[in-house]
Amino acid sequence: MSQPIEKGTEAKNIPAPLAPAELERMRHSAAHLMAAAVQQLWPTARFGVGPAVKNGFYYDLDLPVQLTQADLGKIEQKMRELKNKKLPYERIELPVDEAIAEMERRGQTYKVELLNLLKEKGSTAVAKETGDEDVIGSNESGGVAQVSFYKTGEFLDLCRGPHVESSNQIAVFKLMNIAGAYWRGNEKNPQLQRLYGAVFSTKEELDHYLWQLEEARKRDHRKLGQELDIFTFSDDVGQGLPLWMPNGTVIREELEKLAKEEERRDGYVRVSTPHITKDKLYYRSGHLPYYREDMYAPIEIEGEEYFLKPMNCPHHHQLYLARLRSYRDLPLRMAEYGQVYRYEQSGALSGLMRTRGFNQNDAHLYCRYDQAKDEFLKVMRLHARYYDMMGIKEYYMRFSKPDLSKLDKYVNEPEKWLAAMEIIKQAMDESGYPYVEAEGEAAFYGPKIDFMIKSVIGTEYAISTNQLDFVASERFELSYKGEDGKDHPVYVIHRAPLGSHERFVAFLIEHYAGVFPTWLAPVQAVIIPISDRHKEYAHQVYERLFSSEVPTATGGIRVLLDEARESMQKKIRNAQVKKIPYMLIVGDKEAEDGVVSVRLRSGVDLKAMPVEELIDRIRAEVKTRQDIVVS
Ligand SMILES: [Zn+2]
Ligand SMILES: [Zn+2]
Repeated sequence: MSQPIEKGTEAKNIPAPLAPAELERMRHSAAHLMAAAVQQLWPTARFGVGPAVKNGFYYDLDLPVQLTQADLGKIEQKMRELKNKKLPYERIELPVDEAIAEMERRGQTYKVELLNLLKEKGSTAVAKETGDEDVIGSNESGGVAQVSFYKTGEFLDLCRGPHVESSNQIAVFKLMNIAGAYWRGNEKNPQLQRLYGAVFSTKEELDHYLWQLEEARKRDHRKLGQELDIFTFSDDVGQGLPLWMPNGTVIREELEKLAKEEERRDGYVRVSTPHITKDKLYYRSGHLPYYREDMYAPIEIEGEEYFLKPMNCPHHHQLYLARLRSYRDLPLRMAEYGQVYRYEQSGALSGLMRTRGFNQNDAHLYCRYDQAKDEFLKVMRLHARYYDMMGIKEYYMRFSKPDLSKLDKYVNEPEKWLAAMEIIKQAMDESGYPYVEAEGEAAFYGPKIDFMIKSVIGTEYAISTNQLDFVASERFELSYKGEDGKDHPVYVIHRAPLGSHERFVAFLIEHYAGVFPTWLAPVQAVIIPISDRHKEYAHQVYERLFSSEVPTATGGIRVLLDEARESMQKKIRNAQVKKIPYMLIVGDKEAEDGVVSVRLRSGVDLKAMPVEELIDRIRAEVKTRQDIVVS
């Protein structure tokens, strides 16, 4: 089933949580109700497909008019009228030839086309062509002899159901927007008007959904990223290749500092590796040929082919191999914020969410079999520490397992897969964090776990992928000398809790709506002298903040002195627009008493405060990475 992409949910591979069957039925029935309303308003309307989708439904319409916002109101009105008539959803079965004749009689040319396709090729072909699985029948791959229809008032639709019994069982709906869609997804076919509707079982749920959409629009990282000078793109540099402005670079550096501290605590060491690499390494790793379509064309250097690196793993393996390793050296945890490049079609690029180059919070943990579970568990706990710190309340793990019946698609070693899956499952159970399981989606070198997180407005992001890899040890002959003096294979854990800077910062922008906590704020304080004669004192305050010992990634408090020839009010407004945590206003009184008047970006007035007290406060917020809550 194809799904509309909503703002802020562009993350790759996020499955919609399945609506409970009842809601799904309501949504699909609402599509029919809308078609019935459209048919009454424009009797010559022709219908394409109309499936239930995440949050509602759509229907593709061929109409004599171009729909406007006012028309949506009209259609919605008509839908309510029909809903209140308690129209039954009546199922009718017909031989396919009779069905074709009926649809011809009604002038429903698209339905006739679908029926002919059903007759010749079966429902699987139809579902594949239209993206609508609800058209008809089970998954027959041959032709279909009998088809089912649903009748709602005068509207008759080719459909397998199921539906509600009566139109008044459709709880709460709202028509959302209109988009263009080519019939059967082919641009050579006519363009239809795709009308989306939202359907929920309560008004509260609908209102919440509308609030979410509105918040997502306001918090859109592309918009805020521009307004807050976080990142930019340049046509001359290329699409999908973000340029980080000074403000965005501060955020990156703070995240890296955080990662370094947390990883140090968990016993990691840090490494650095180059951006390009000979093809040889990628044949060995299996990226070539498995992963070639995600890589860029090679660069030729002295007759040899070099690729931009799509992953850091093979390089870390080379570092592992650079020395003999004994059981006493394990676990060996190598971390790097590593820049990688992966091919994305230009049409798929989206701000920082989908880029062609990104910097990963990467690490590889080399361990013995008997250490793998505890190491994996530690990685899970590290995720949770980050998420707690950032106020990410909702998260879960998504466990991707291979389809064991198609193991040769991966690597033909079922016992190893089962053992690796068992380790992960134990670690997940022990962690106590919620998880879901997904069949047939594992990476080619082992089962994986994605951490899915939700921003405060409920948008779900796939941020971090973790894998337990038992293939690398063979491909790269990664081994260690055991206590028994023999060579043993190592397990490799791939992990990236903070994902890439690109995607994680996009998430944080939405999550915080640009109001970053003090430790992440690109500018932490701005000094605003009331008039020119207060500049001297303002400079003294600036010096004291600037030279104070506060452990930020940038070496101290990030403070600005606003000396522009503007009014104090204007400067306060500017600081609020830039979402700067502290505004320090200095005038005669402050200079006389040796204090600053502190205003927060929220508008809260903390009144006069000695400069040292303010520095202590900022230091505490930076150290704990928590803002002090003002009640
Ligand atoms: Zn239907
Ligand atoms: Zn890796």
